[in-house]
Amino acid sequence: MSSPTLDRVLDAVFRVDGNYAIKFISEPGQRWLGSPLGQEMPRNFLALLHPADAGSFTDACKKQPDDFSCDVRLIKSGGECWVNVRAYRLGVLDQYVLCVIDISRWRVDDAAYRHAAEHDDLTGLANRAFFKKMVEAQLHAGNPTFCIALLDLDGFKKVNDTYGHAMGDAVLVETSKRLTRIVASDDVLGRLGGDEFVLLLAGQDAATAQAVAKNALLAIARPYDTAPHNAYLGVSIGIAQFPDHGVDYSTLLKNADTAMYHSKNAGKNRVSIFAVDDVSVDFSLKAAIHNGIQEGEFYLEFQPQYDVQRKLIGAEALMRWNSRNFGRVAPDKFIPIVEESGLMPFLGTWALRYACHQLKKFHQKMPDFVMSVNVSPVQFGGDGFDAHVLAAITEAGVDPTTVILEITESTLMRSQEKTERALALLRERGIRFSIDDFGTGFSSLAYLTRLPVSSIKIDKAFVRAIENERSASSTDKKLVTAMINLAHSIDLKVVAEGVENELQFEFLKQSGCNLIQGYLLGRPMSADAISGLLDQQMGVVA
Ligand code: C2E
Ligand code: CA
Ligand code: CA
Repeated sequence: MSSPTLDRVLDAVFRVDGNYAIKFISEPGQRWLGSPLGQEMPRNFLALLHPADAGSFTDACKKQPDDFSCDVRLIKSGGECWVNVRAYRLGVLDQYVLCVIDISRWRVDDAAYRHAAEHDDLTGLANRAFFKKMVEAQLHAGNPTFCIALLDLDGFKKVNDTYGHAMGDAVLVETSKRLTRIVASDDVLGRLGGDEFVLLLAGQDAATAQAVAKNALLAIARPYDTAPHNAYLGVSIGIAQFPDHGVDYSTLLKNADTAMYHSKNAGKNRVSIFAVDDVSVDFSLKAAIHNGIQEGEFYLEFQPQYDVQRKLIGAEALMRWNSRNFGRVAPDKFIPIVEESGLMPFLGTWALRYACHQLKKFHQKMPDFVMSVNVSPVQFGGDGFDAHVLAAITEAGVDPTTVILEITESTLMRSQEKTERALALLRERGIRFSIDDFGTGFSSLAYLTRLPVSSIKIDKAFVRAIENERSASSTDKKLVTAMINLAHSIDLKVVAEGVENELQFEFLKQSGCNLIQGYLLGRPMSADAISGLLDQQMGVVA
């Protein structure tokens, strides 16, 4: 396949063996490289790299052998250039696919580049990646103790929803200024995203960290002139201490988060220090899931999918949990726990059966209505996945060609023989597959042609980026067009999700996108509501 759109996304694709010996270079890649140093192509990928960067490349590989990404200098005929290399291991072959993008245009000013890469655009505070790096530096430095505090604003959502994002942004900027004033110079203040701030308190134990956190409470409690009516906000804070509450970054952050939730549950606007007993919170969510399954607290909603003529053609089934103890819990929150606790194959099969039964009912109104169902990567790992899918379809008596299974790129990346066999077998029976959250990894490009996939779903992050007229020529738009063209060039249909406004809709329609899903045309809803829409549509047609 030679696709002009692929050139625009990736500059070169290599396949190398475990010693980085080059086994394959994509054609556009060969053109892009030219003949490096006026000689023939080198045999080893490391020989293409700047000698000072080869080490950091092999280190990145050692650290994360399954997939890693790093920025290095590459020597090609036109001279030296900065590239980003994303590497994915092909498990069976013990080889790597290396996706190379020329990033020199973004690195014109190295210092500015580093600052932008390490700091949050809005507040100028450390971003998530840089904060992590700073914590890891503490861990390596061997200091006897330090603390992480997680701060989550109370009442921010209300400001944002009532007064709009501009006001919300102003509040976040003001918050970052107030917090900056109360921290010491060797502390690191960061923003993880949204209204979530983090603080690395160097050399401090939980008791001294608590004193700083109390100052933060006072700082945030002052009225905000930035918001109308002098809005009052609060902040819920959780603290975790090294080494008592964790000896690595992710454990410390997770435990600070648990402590922060303690503060929220205890009435907000307060500080909690992680207690080792808090782990039970997690267990109780797990227990509640077990219980919820028995009590029938799980159900599905269906989000309508339309073609670009705005005809309803199908729906995506989305899992919901209304817990007696926790209220409505978002799937992003409970699905990871379900996966981890080994219940996903069970709950996933249940969702599939429920969706197929519902589909049978929809078919009475519209025989070619299509139902998409999400499949977690851990379901593929499980035994008899294909048999469960076939059983659900047979039991409901629906035409298999009206069922689409949504799988993620990570399912494909972990692709083992077992996954591929299950995919092929189900495809043979007429069931189709769609790649969910497409674009969040370049990984699947290589796999798309090989595996029996029939469509891609462009991740809503890309759709969100098509926000306004001003970004008409933006890279984001080009990227979306490139994805659509690439998909069409290998006969895949394209679904866009997260479509929230007419501008996005029009752009996607003009770019040849096939199906549209999002709040603009319909939120997730009950099966009855979908039936109502089908009645309406038939009424219009009749
Ligand atoms: P997903 O598969 O990417 O599902 C789309 C998510 O986008 C849904 O979130 C949906 O409510 C939301 N969404 C739809 N239109 C819009 C829009 O216009 N704007 C915005 N901002 N969001 C929109 P939801 O229901 O919270 O589900 C979150 C994730 O949980 C899903 O992401 C999926 O990964 C997972 N999930 C949900 N149900 C299941 C399931 O039955 N099995 C598995 N394995 N995962 C599921
Ligand atoms: Ca999905
Ligand atoms: Ca998605």
